Amino acid sequence: MTEILRMTIGGECRPGVATFSSLDPYLGKAWVDVPEAAESDVDGAVAAARQALTSPAWGGATGPERAALLHLVADVLDANADELALLETRDNGKVIRETTAQIRSCGGWYRYFAGLSDKINGTLPDTGRKNYLGYVVSEPVGVVGAILPWNSPILLLTFKLAPALAAGCCVVAKPSEHAPASILRFAELLLEAGLPPGVFNVVSGSGSAVGEWLVAHPGVDKVAFTGSTTVGRQVAAKAGERLIPSSLELGGKSANIVFADADIEAAVNGIIAGIFAASGQTCVAGSRALIARELYDDVLARVVARASTIRMGDPKSWTTDVGPICFPGHLTRIDSMVRKAVRDGAAVVAGGEREAADSQFYPATVLTDVAMTSMMWHEEVFGPVLAVMPFDTEGEAITLANDSKYGLAAGVWTNDLRRAVRVSAALQVGTVWVNSYRTLTFAMPFEGRGQSGFGQENGIEAVGQFLRRKSVWIETEGSSRDPFVVG
Ligand code: NDP
Repeated sequence: MTEILRMTIGGECRPGVATFSSLDPYLGKAWVDVPEAAESDVDGAVAAARQALTSPAWGGATGPERAALLHLVADVLDANADELALLETRDNGKVIRETTAQIRSCGGWYRYFAGLSDKINGTLPDTGRKNYLGYVVSEPVGVVGAILPWNSPILLLTFKLAPALAAGCCVVAKPSEHAPASILRFAELLLEAGLPPGVFNVVSGSGSAVGEWLVAHPGVDKVAFTGSTTVGRQVAAKAGERLIPSSLELGGKSANIVFADADIEAAVNGIIAGIFAASGQTCVAGSRALIARELYDDVLARVVARASTIRMGDPKSWTTDVGPICFPGHLTRIDSMVRKAVRDGAAVVAGGEREAADSQFYPATVLTDVAMTSMMWHEEVFGPVLAVMPFDTEGEAITLANDSKYGLAAGVWTNDLRRAVRVSAALQVGTVWVNSYRTLTFAMPFEGRGQSGFGQENGIEAVGQFLRRKSVWIETEGSSRDPFVVG
């Protein structure tokens, strides 16, 4: 286990000009020094990535050779998953059960995209002209700046890095200052294992300095961002100023809809998993539960009862259900949003009070009577706070679920297949789970609607996000003529 963190820039792992501390939210104290990048480090990382784009080892690699390197990345993850998981758990407080399972699953992403890296084929369109052969090739977009949040660092990096590498791009990643350790260590392990220098670089530091330098850097060809809607908007605007593409995976206010014909026990499990796993610190958190009125009292009672039995504690213990909130400022924000909801008329039926003043835990909280005009109905909490509301008709359930500026995900609980299909079609979100919640695979596309962002991650087409097309016209009959000679 390393506790000395270094940035990976080109072929070198190095400290920063200064360091900052990363907090262990369970112990409530700094646990590791993190290198702070200077602007020259960002310059160096982007220059190394640009150089790798044309290096024989990477730029000159064939599809099968890139596939072999993606398999190498997967093997490194498999071999080091437990170390990386522990780094994440210490950094962001997510329970070891979840970080381990997540990171162990990530190898699958690299193997899936390895299978695509040798299938990036061109096309031969009909040019409509007998004397012209036209062909189209796909080229890597170039250097990708990847900006990551703190809640699932390696997984969310993987959503970008695996298809970007399959496409032949090089990546400079900027992890969150709240949980940079696992990504810094991962890059170091990859360099040691033989990933060519410059293909994957990591610079750490704050978003307002290092993140901004990276987005504004003239050597970056695309920005792939996961984080809050507020910062995503700024990042996209900066990328837009430079006329480079961006992809944004942002926040959500997802609804879990329980119809009267649902399997109640399964639905309650789905609601609990959707909002209380990882203390609600997930983009797809099912933060609104819409319950058919005839089931409302029963489902609410079961959710409240289950919420009170969730075991909070040391995230490094395999028997803990949920760990602490990642950092003090975020805990304060969750607490103030719940207080505001109560001032706006909401009733607290579970949780709703911070643990002791010096604790980093926030209890599973269930609110009823949340006004549809209130902040709690519309804004992402990114914490363990559930708003529960009854509905009378299928149409009303759809209207309530779609009453959001976000559009990331939704859950539908019903045993009526026709209803499942109908409601899934009507929901304005990128992912619908029917009789399930929060399942994920590399093969299923993941992208938002509305203020949840744009740009597909996962699925075959994700590689296309890191490619651009070039059309080549070839005149075949020697018939090019002076355009100004008549006849
Ligand atoms: P933030 O938006 O605060 O930060 C995301 C990243 O952007 C961090 O690395 C941050 O750096 C960096 N950053 C901050 N300011 C700038 C800037 N001006 N320019 C460039 N980069 C900047 O999000 P959080 O880290 O708090 O993550 C939580 C959010 O992420 C939630 O809204 C959640 O819904 C969303 N999310 C979305 C997912 C999805 O797939 N849709 C998945 C997971 C999370 P630093 O932290 O160092 O300041």
